[in-house]
Amino acid sequence: MISIKNLHKSYKIGDSSLHVLKGIDLNIKKGELVAIMGSSGSGKSTLLNILGMLDLADEGEYLLDNVLIEGLTETTAANYRNKFLGFIFQSFNLINYKNALENVALPLYYQGLGRKIRQVKALGYLEKVGLKDWATHLPSELSGGQKQRVAIARAMASEPKVLLADEPTGALDSKTSTEVMSLIQQINSEGKTILVVTHELDIANMCKRIVKLKDGVIVDDQKVDQVIAENHV
Ligand code: ADP
Ligand code: MG
Repeated sequence: MISIKNLHKSYKIGDSSLHVLKGIDLNIKKGELVAIMGSSGSGKSTLLNILGMLDLADEGEYLLDNVLIEGLTETTAANYRNKFLGFIFQSFNLINYKNALENVALPLYYQGLGRKIRQVKALGYLEKVGLKDWATHLPSELSGGQKQRVAIARAMASEPKVLLADEPTGALDSKTSTEVMSLIQQINSEGKTILVVTHELDIANMCKRIVKLKDGVIVDDQKVDQVIAENHV
């Protein structure tokens, strides 16, 4: 589903340049649930933003569902982004003056679907995340966990091939974090490919595979059952 080779990214800051990703190779198959771990500043968001086509690498190759992501016009990139990718952020990024249903329906509007079908689909996704009864509530009337579940429903609504979550539990208490991760596990068990950026081991352990980033390179890449088994030796 995702294949990257020798990915490099630097940020220009004035006259100097900060080399953040220093040759990343990563393959992710359909149906995987992968945690990208690493301390703050290790380049996790930079990598996720490139995978999400929100930013471009300086060097290297990126194939998303066998499509080479390179030299695309902004329109084509936006189309791929809408079709292939769903985003979940630490701060939810819901639109405050739209209710839960309208937030979930928004990507469907950009896909050009009619109003009625948007409402039906959006309500279906809200039901999937257990928030059907909260459809007409504004984000300000929802708890953090509920807001993140609305954001997950919104990310699912456009039926993306890959869900990208950047610290999805970063603003939640540990009990709510576990609930949100359980929902992510459930969505994954239905076949969705999901990447979760986190710096918390508890969260990473709820994924199936953990990729560790340090100083812009991958230093570890293991299946979670192996990691847990080793820790019990
Ligand atoms: P993480 O998500 O692992 O905390 P990031 O990918 O956000 O790390 O950042 C990696 C490094 O790149 C950090 O040192 C950060 O300050 C720097 N950085 C991130 N985004 C930018 C940017 N747009 N311009 C300049 N430096 C940036
Ligand atoms: Mg980050």
